[in-house]
Amino acid sequence: MSPAECSPSPANSLPAVATVPAGDPWRSHTVRIEGIVEEIPGVQTYDLRFLDQEVAGRYRFLPGQFNMLHLPGIGEAAISISSDPANPQQLAHTVRAVGNVTDALARLHPGDTLMLRGPFGRPWPVAESTGRDLVLVAGGLGLASQRAAIRELARRRAEYASVTVVHGAKEPSGLLYTHEYREWKAAGVVVRTIVDGLPQGTATTENAAGDAAMWDGRVGLVTDLVNELTMLSDRTTLLCCGPDPMMTAVAHAALRHDVPAEQVFVSLERNMACAVRHCGLCQFGPVFVCQDGPVFSFAAIEPYLSIPHL
Ligand SMILES: Cc1cc2nc3c(=O)[nH]c(=O)nc-3n(C[C@H](O)[C@H](O)[C@H](O)COP(=O)(O)OP(=O)(O)OC[C@H]3O[C@@H](n4cnc5c(N)ncnc54)[C@H](O)[C@@H]3O)c2cc1C
Repeated sequence: MSPAECSPSPANSLPAVATVPAGDPWRSHTVRIEGIVEEIPGVQTYDLRFLDQEVAGRYRFLPGQFNMLHLPGIGEAAISISSDPANPQQLAHTVRAVGNVTDALARLHPGDTLMLRGPFGRPWPVAESTGRDLVLVAGGLGLASQRAAIRELARRRAEYASVTVVHGAKEPSGLLYTHEYREWKAAGVVVRTIVDGLPQGTATTENAAGDAAMWDGRVGLVTDLVNELTMLSDRTTLLCCGPDPMMTAVAHAALRHDVPAEQVFVSLERNMACAVRHCGLCQFGPVFVCQDGPVFSFAAIEPYLSIPHL
């Protein structure tokens, strides 16, 4: 996809990108589940393929964009694309079963089909950040929205000064994609992990993949790790995804390192329905998260994040 630059939203310095498959953003396409990986309890990655080869051939996405997964008769849910953008025909979505659509998705099996439309939204500024130190900070399932960026950065590692992933989870068994850390590290990506705590009565624990070695052994908050990083104000770009209070805390930690707010990016999660700026469900102050975001610079979005219950 060649990102079609539209005029930036007043509340976002990031360019809008064309929705692909080009044409009708309302039109869903059938995808088949090729495989399902249980990442951690209750969270599965669905490996999807378009049935229509013509659609498959023109589908492209950028890291941080999302698709609307549609289960006919049940509903649609916005889900980040968690696979490598270099291979857009092999789409992965990592989903926590929390409600109507995601619970129904969890009942499907390889070979079953569902519908998908997208991609939607502004991506992480990966292409714009070559030569810089990139710090990706993810709380819990927030790492799903960054995995496509991590895969791209690992592939193009030489184009960036450094790439650091900081991932926090409630407990070691909640750390996501641990089976990929070795590959990321081998590509030159620094991976740091931290957990809020251990399950009661455990001195140490193993994650779902049985790979406790992927947890650094640190207990605390992601901000503890962010505070320890050396962040040069003139060349650091920080990308953060997680609950709003966590993103605000991480952004402020970066600002204390004198990283400009324009170089701190957060991905907002808001309930949404149409994904094309019509229904208003995801309106957040003056912006629509579906198209003005979900990725915003902290400079643009901070005034609204600080308004309680907005
Ligand atoms: C841009 C974007 C990317 C997302 N990426 C992912 C992803 O990669 N993986 C993933 O598992 N989920 C992701 N989500 C969240 C997902 O869209 C919601 O969890 C979705 O509503 C679930 O649909 P459902 O029908 O299963 O649940 P529902 O029946 O709609 O709701 C279940 C519960 O979750 C709450 N809820 C619903 N929507 C949201 C929301 N958007 N944010 C917070 N709480 C909500 C409801 O109030 C309810 O309590 C993303 C959301 C956005 C906006």
